[in-house]
Amino acid sequence: MPQRYAYGYVRVSTHDQEEISPDSQEKLLREYAKKNNIIILKIFCELGVSGRKADKRPEFQEMIASAKSKEHPVDTILVWKYSRFARNQEESIVYKSLLKKQNNVDVISVSEPLVDGPFGSLIERIIEWMDEYYSIRLSGEVFRGMKENAMRGSYQARPPLGYRIQEHGKPPVIVPEEARIIKIIFEKYVNENSNFFDIARYLNSLGFKTSHNKPFERRSIEYILQNPTYCGMIRWNRTKNDTNEIKDRSEWIIADGEHEAIITKELFDKAQERYKHNYTPKGARPAATYKHWLSGLLKCPDCGRTLTACTKYRRNGDSYSYFSCFGYSKGKCPKPNGISSMVLEKDVLSNLQNVIDTGNIDFELRHFEPVEIVNVRAILKERLKGIAVKEERIKASYREGIDTLDEYKDNKKLLLKERDDIERQLSELADGNSDNTQDATAAILQKVSNVYAIVSSDQYTNTRKNAALRQIIDKIVYNRQTNTLKVFYILYRS
Ligand SMILES: [Zn+2]
Repeated sequence: MPQRYAYGYVRVSTHDQEEISPDSQEKLLREYAKKNNIIILKIFCELGVSGRKADKRPEFQEMIASAKSKEHPVDTILVWKYSRFARNQEESIVYKSLLKKQNNVDVISVSEPLVDGPFGSLIERIIEWMDEYYSIRLSGEVFRGMKENAMRGSYQARPPLGYRIQEHGKPPVIVPEEARIIKIIFEKYVNENSNFFDIARYLNSLGFKTSHNKPFERRSIEYILQNPTYCGMIRWNRTKNDTNEIKDRSEWIIADGEHEAIITKELFDKAQERYKHNYTPKGARPAATYKHWLSGLLKCPDCGRTLTACTKYRRNGDSYSYFSCFGYSKGKCPKPNGISSMVLEKDVLSNLQNVIDTGNIDFELRHFEPVEIVNVRAILKERLKGIAVKEERIKASYREGIDTLDEYKDNKKLLLKERDDIERQLSELADGNSDNTQDATAAILQKVSNVYAIVSSDQYTNTRKNAALRQIIDKIVYNRQTNTLKVFYILYRS
């Protein structure tokens, strides 16, 4: 029997005659799991709830949401008796059939047999009928009602950067100067492979501010990139009302809104794809949550598939990753092309080091067409104009006796510094504008040394290292036969 993963669910019913304790229920679940090659990832236990709260069954709700999530963390849910899983037959049938049909998750009672034969198939038909009945109800009026409420609610709330409320109760309208920031963020992320830090730094260097009038941080960029408002959608049910804690993605509801989009749906989807790829561990299974900084970059020389990592342990207990071709394990690729991360890390670092030392680098220059051309020069010039206005203002304040001479001097110094910064950026723009090969080589060499500093340090997370590498490396191909490693460098240019 193949290995399967499960959640266990334990509930005490006060009405049941043949009650057994939560501990005994758990023990029976674990025994069953052991016999049937099932790994229990978590036991959800409904304890100490009474009265109204018992109706809500928070542990049950959490387990169902997790079991239904896209990552498909478990294949089954184990209960002692079906009566523990649901409080009545109707509820049980609905949850069981929805889990089975939509998420391929079985609910198994460890003390009751599965129903076989004609009676079993009759129950199945009933289940299907119930299923249809429930989904019609859910998709129809319930959903419509929820959406209307949410739309009203979401349009009453403070709109995100890029929008403002013009008329109360109406969809928000676009603020062009802010929408420009949103476009820059999505384009840099999707087309230039920039990471959150770089985007934040870039925006701050241009003097842009968040909706709270603060400099951009990693978090603000991450939040904006995930906000479907920007492609014309609305999202609700993302956070818990009382605690603001973010709910599981499977519980979010996203639908078309009535406001104007700032970016295309296509660009938004591309950003989500990259985000998912870089930042969410695949599944909740322990082996898959370990992510190496080379994850996703290694390709099989025989079939082109991405090599996947699994965690291995040395005798001394240290862990490392072993990369191999997924196609091989499926019988679709002739060779495993396996390699240990301990060898790979050294090889990749020495490859980068060699590029830095010699200045020799082969790379592909990948141009992309910006959907909207961001005119950095115009933005900087606007800021210069703004500074001129401020200078007039402080002069006036001093003349009218509002500011002292010292205050005037201090203010003037700050403005001068700001002016210098902008002028420096403008002159750098003039230098970096030509696009010949020499410039590109210098640019990528600079990037390689920056990335090397990040990757070779132990101060950064694997995720951060991985994002850094992706800015300069398209793929890495390791050939076991010849024991060679080829790094395909890339430079993104608009
Ligand atoms: Zn392969």
